[in-house]
Amino acid sequence: MLEPRDLVKAIDHGIDLRERQEWPLYQGGILDRSAYVTASEIGTCARKIKLDKQFMKETGYDPNEGTKTKSSDAWGFWERGHNVERWIVDHLTRGWASNEWELKYLGEEQVSFTDGVQSGTPDGIAINHADEAFYTLEFKSMDPRTNVSRLPKITHRDQVVQNTDLIAHNMDLSPAGGLILYVDASDHKRRFPHMIEYTDDHAARLQDRAEMIMSTEPEDLKPEGLFSPNNDCQYCKHTAACNMMVAHAKNGKDFGHDLNATANGVFG
Ligand code: SF4
Repeated sequence: MLEPRDLVKAIDHGIDLRERQEWPLYQGGILDRSAYVTASEIGTCARKIKLDKQFMKETGYDPNEGTKTKSSDAWGFWERGHNVERWIVDHLTRGWASNEWELKYLGEEQVSFTDGVQSGTPDGIAINHADEAFYTLEFKSMDPRTNVSRLPKITHRDQVVQNTDLIAHNMDLSPAGGLILYVDASDHKRRFPHMIEYTDDHAARLQDRAEMIMSTEPEDLKPEGLFSPNNDCQYCKHTAACNMMVAHAKNGKDFGHDLNATANGVFG
């Protein structure tokens, strides 16, 4: 005789064993995230990016996403973003009434673009067929307590510029720029659109950075997270390894205490 708690266990188990998300490539196949610096990563700590790639190569899992390797309490942050994005795409596609703009690659039709060591998976593309120019779309969920005067985040600007560069290269379209739409996760009527400028210089800087990260050993990359306003260290799975590298770089002395103070306790 099955007990009600067996049903609860079965539901929990089903959630824990959910499929990992895979990203189809624009040119066919499935994106191997371990081989590219993605647009969502490019503005984060260089050492963390490289250590993430090595972890992915060794385990097949992305340490930043909700997987069997990660405790479920960390899923909320990522799932909230996915849920808000689904909400936007659902409403946008059902309510779309513009003849001037064509929306492509939203929701289930999302694709990843690659070039060199860079990849990107935009939330959508808006194409104006009058001049074959496009805007890259990025949808972001936002905590209701966010200080909106500080938006858009620099990492999000970088994400849009890298994505725009990759789309232009793959689809042979002219980049007009990007649009980031921040949506309050608790009140979807609070929405903050930001137009993002695209320049070739900005795109080239990101390309150089991606190549530098992929061709450098983690210990030779700067621990940028320690000095970043993005709380990279707080969400990093490599604090122990990073601490060892910093200590080694300081002639074997243990600077863990200093690091811990700098990084608000993430090395503790
Ligand atoms: S602990 Fe901080 S500085 Fe070190 S790799 Fe992670 S994010 Fe970068």
